[in-house]
Amino acid sequence: DSFPVSLKEADAQTQEQVERNRSSHVSKSCSVSYANSGALQMQRGEGSRLFDINGIGYLDTRNNVAHVGHSHPKVAQAVAFQVQLLNTNTRYLHPNSSLLAKKLADLLPSPLEVVFFVNSGSEANDLALRLARAYKCSQSADERLKKQHVISVDHAYHGHTLAVLDVSPYKHHQGDEMTCPGHVKIVSCPDLYRGEHSLPINANNDTDDALVEDAASKYAAHVEAACDEITSSGNSVSAFIIEGGMSVAGVILPPKSYLKTCIEAVHTSGGLYIADEVQTGFGRLGKCMWAFQHSMGGNDSDICPDIVTVGKPFGNGMPLAAVITTRQIASSFESLGVEYFNTFGGNPVCCAAGLAMLDVLSSEGLQNNALTVGSYLQQRFCQLQSRQELIGDIRGCGLFLGIELVKDKITKEPATVETSFICSILKEKYHVLTSVDGFHENVIVIKPPMCFSKADAEEFVSCFEKVLVEDLPAASERLAQ
Ligand code: PMP
Repeated sequence: DSFPVSLKEADAQTQEQVERNRSSHVSKSCSVSYANSGALQMQRGEGSRLFDINGIGYLDTRNNVAHVGHSHPKVAQAVAFQVQLLNTNTRYLHPNSSLLAKKLADLLPSPLEVVFFVNSGSEANDLALRLARAYKCSQSADERLKKQHVISVDHAYHGHTLAVLDVSPYKHHQGDEMTCPGHVKIVSCPDLYRGEHSLPINANNDTDDALVEDAASKYAAHVEAACDEITSSGNSVSAFIIEGGMSVAGVILPPKSYLKTCIEAVHTSGGLYIADEVQTGFGRLGKCMWAFQHSMGGNDSDICPDIVTVGKPFGNGMPLAAVITTRQIASSFESLGVEYFNTFGGNPVCCAAGLAMLDVLSSEGLQNNALTVGSYLQQRFCQLQSRQELIGDIRGCGLFLGIELVKDKITKEPATVETSFICSILKEKYHVLTSVDGFHENVIVIKPPMCFSKADAEEFVSCFEKVLVEDLPAASERLAQ
């Protein structure tokens, strides 16, 4: 009875009413409106499973937001407790935000100690770009007169606000006329499978260190050239933004030494390194807490970003994101007289979720679970690859894996239609939810909640195999038409 009337009303809607209200009033482009592509109506989540309104459970291999599991009871309790006490934060101190800031800073290399709370990954990256620019402009009057350029990587996605769209050429250079591409330099995506400096086909499975090193330096040379081009034309490099593991690009882990060389070039030209950890942060890659530590084998002494952004998993589903930077960079706002303010950032309820997520991550050993289950998944997919022509490449680490599907292992022609078919059969027949990304939409990106178990992994791979062996051949004539 204490339930709000409108919630009861929402719950009592028939499926037809939900669909009618959605199609009449929710924009087709809005992410809650994916019903266009046959979205499921979900009602409840638990661990690595979601349950729809008919009570059918779906194995979730794609939700990197419910980091420690869907509706984890400890996170739910923390949120419920806090929401009843106080749920706004406008301009006063709250113990949740100060403790969370301290815990977040403790998880990062020591120069990164100042936290700005925001509400989404896009906002975090937007603020990171703004901070980088402010830092440059606070250095001299001369800098303020120069055009401040950002270097970003092809096929990357950093969010949906106007500024970050510019640095997000994930499918195409979108919206050029709306934004200011003149201030952004896009460099080649360091993709070893399909990119400009990809490895020879027979080297893919048995990766040769010298070949990887060679490709890494060729890719890094694009960043070095971009820095030279920007500075030699009298402009300034304000930042280089990149994920330590590029998700939307199709799980591209920058090859060893790539990041280090790029960062040196960017720092030499006076720019900052922004590590976008929105998808990959908080132990997803298993070996290390942050993806930027991954390329050097988890040794964080070699690479230290100037600015780190986090989002998605931070609040386990509650809107919580942050920018973490050094005291010197953070203080450039103060020295320029910028008052940074946002209404919801650091909300005590979202911070309660963040605190609980961090507790569960460590008490349930989920980073280690990501490593163990991720290795098992990778090994099972490799076994499948030896029997299946369609699996071109398997890459990633921990619970951040990409399975790239191709029509032919030699030509690497993307199997885009087949990928879409496989995912819809997995959903409709086997009740397994997957996610497709990559420039050609032929990479199945595996990024489940970090509590994904070995049994979940086995269920996923065996369903996947059934689709390849039974359902796909049966439908191939239809697909060919
Ligand atoms: N950065 C990366 C790497 C992302 O993948 C995303 C979202 N997919 C964002 C930023 C933007 O986050 P949000 O959707 O929370 O704005």
